[in-house]
Amino acid sequence: MDIELIREEFPILKQKIYGNKQLVYLDNAATTQKPKCVIDSISNFYSVFNSNIHRGVHYLSEKATEIYENARLKVQQFINAKSRTEIVFTKGSTDALNLMAFSFGEAYIKEGDEVIVSEMEHHSNIVPWQLMCQRKKAVLKVIPFDDNGELILSELDKLISEKTKIVCVTYVSNTLGTVNPIETIISKAHSFGIPVLIDAAQAIQHTAIDVQKLDCDFLALSGHKIYAETGIGVLYAKEKYLDEMPPYQGGGDMIKTVSFSGSTWAELPLKFEAGTSNFVGAGSLHTALDYVDRIGLKNIQNHEAELLKYATQKLDEIGNITIYGRAKNKAAAISFNVDGAHHYDVGMILDKMGVAVRTGTHCTEPIMQHFGITGTVRASFALYNTFEEIDILAEAVIRAKKMLC
Ligand code: PLP
Repeated sequence: MDIELIREEFPILKQKIYGNKQLVYLDNAATTQKPKCVIDSISNFYSVFNSNIHRGVHYLSEKATEIYENARLKVQQFINAKSRTEIVFTKGSTDALNLMAFSFGEAYIKEGDEVIVSEMEHHSNIVPWQLMCQRKKAVLKVIPFDDNGELILSELDKLISEKTKIVCVTYVSNTLGTVNPIETIISKAHSFGIPVLIDAAQAIQHTAIDVQKLDCDFLALSGHKIYAETGIGVLYAKEKYLDEMPPYQGGGDMIKTVSFSGSTWAELPLKFEAGTSNFVGAGSLHTALDYVDRIGLKNIQNHEAELLKYATQKLDEIGNITIYGRAKNKAAAISFNVDGAHHYDVGMILDKMGVAVRTGTHCTEPIMQHFGITGTVRASFALYNTFEEIDILAEAVIRAKKMLC
């Protein structure tokens, strides 16, 4: 990978901030920057094709529908789903997970049933399930992780019971960087006939995903984490479940017939896509996935693995830095604290030096509770980051440490 050429594709990375500081963007787990081809595709859509999808008989509407449905085919191919009908467009991972908790809950959960999540889930794979459990009087159970940030899978054996209806687990932790052994989790759950939902919000941009090979039953992802626009995401679900699950929201596009004596639902996947969908976002996702395919996920993964290794080494060399998450298998996020300093103060100083990191709980308060801390500084990497940027991060951390400790 020629990183300099890649960086040319991302106009935002060229800018200086606070007058003369080169922007060092290390907040990619929150959202990724957009290549020019994605930005151009959005502008082109509004300049040439803008029209609402599915409902029009005119030229523009047919073109817009074609772009939207082609994006669905692209996602299908990207994650190797069996059918386009298994690809539901959503607003993002959170929306996909809420859809799941509601519709799966309505179809399959009754009082006393159990749902298993892990201790390292993002809030969006906890709270929707809590809401559903409250509604249905069901029970939420939690797979713990150890101090290295690895799930304790022997605990999963103890948690599974005849009441377990679904296991919901993140592929990659946005805070610890842990890549979970989802193949093992899926085969274990399936051996008891329990379906598995994978939150791939932090995996889709770092690792190739083949849903048929994994045999996961459900998978959620966000476009903006993989170089596409915000407000577009995907729920992948096996067709048999989508058939049985009731709609999540009602409105236009998701119905076959409506009358006051009752309504019937559109064919899959439109049954789950009420209202005007984000067709521009879907088009941008298509462009972004093509872009990632051109670079190659394997190349991206190798580059990010090198960056992670280098960053871990540089931070360890500084001394009095605590890194949270030392799993054997990690993706491109590193959470740390400067001992004796508040994560927010460190983040502020880094920002003034041009380095964009995230501070706080990263929407994973249970992880903070596990370690007894209020937050961390998180640096997260993408295909356009460089070793020089990690040197700048390390220098900025040294400076923050001198100022604060
Ligand atoms: N799951 C994980 C692991 C995440 O990191 C995030 C966002 O950071 C989400 C879910 C929610 O994604 P979104 O905010 O795009 O809906």
